[in-house]
Amino acid sequence: MALGTFVQDDVRQLVDGLNFAEKVERSLWLIREAYEEHGEHLAVANSLGKDSCVVWDLAKRVSPHIPGFIVTTRFKPPETKQFMKETVARYPELRVFDNPAPIPEKLWETDPDRCCDILKVKPTRQAIEEMDVHCWVTGLRCTEGRTRTDFEEVEERDKGLIKLNPILVWHEREIWQYLALYRVPVNPLYAEGYRSLGCGPCSRITSGGDERAGRWIGTSKCGGECGIHTRPLIDYQI
Ligand code: SF4
Repeated sequence: MALGTFVQDDVRQLVDGLNFAEKVERSLWLIREAYEEHGEHLAVANSLGKDSCVVWDLAKRVSPHIPGFIVTTRFKPPETKQFMKETVARYPELRVFDNPAPIPEKLWETDPDRCCDILKVKPTRQAIEEMDVHCWVTGLRCTEGRTRTDFEEVEERDKGLIKLNPILVWHEREIWQYLALYRVPVNPLYAEGYRSLGCGPCSRITSGGDERAGRWIGTSKCGGECGIHTRPLIDYQI
């Protein structure tokens, strides 16, 4: 079955219509199809969060040769930086991108959209351009929060750049189920109670509500997006 066939499926029905094992098989199939189509031009965006850990592990099951990239920032917690070091040591095919440009003090508080644009979106564009990516694979899930309900498993938001969201229909529980069953290492900060991890100043421990409710608390961006899933990623001056 061609990759495009999946686009027609109603992802909202799949969220509760497929069981855990069927979701794993579907995700593997999506990655395999995309890898066959795009080969070395396919790359996994690994944010080092729990969802990315699942996608990265699935991709490695499809082929150990699939490359990936990590976008990091100066504001990542020390635990995340350490986890990144360990992950890259284990998987040297993961490239790290960072924007060292100077920014105004506390920009994350005064203008978080601009801060994310400089520190996260720009390096993502850089990764896609430098690695000549035609298909990028993400850990996005439609049950994570209010801003993630309208995505599809296969998208072309930027012309010529396919975005594959192979675990779009997974529940949070199934992420932890996979990580436990396949013994995939995760950032130790999850043990402290975080449900969604980003930069230190913009991630809080919350209970109840959306999974992403602890992101950007106290700003207009609360529970929102950094921009890599909503802003253009190509045809842009880096
Ligand atoms: S998550 Fe916060 S600190 Fe990190 S880039 Fe975005 S606004 Fe800046």
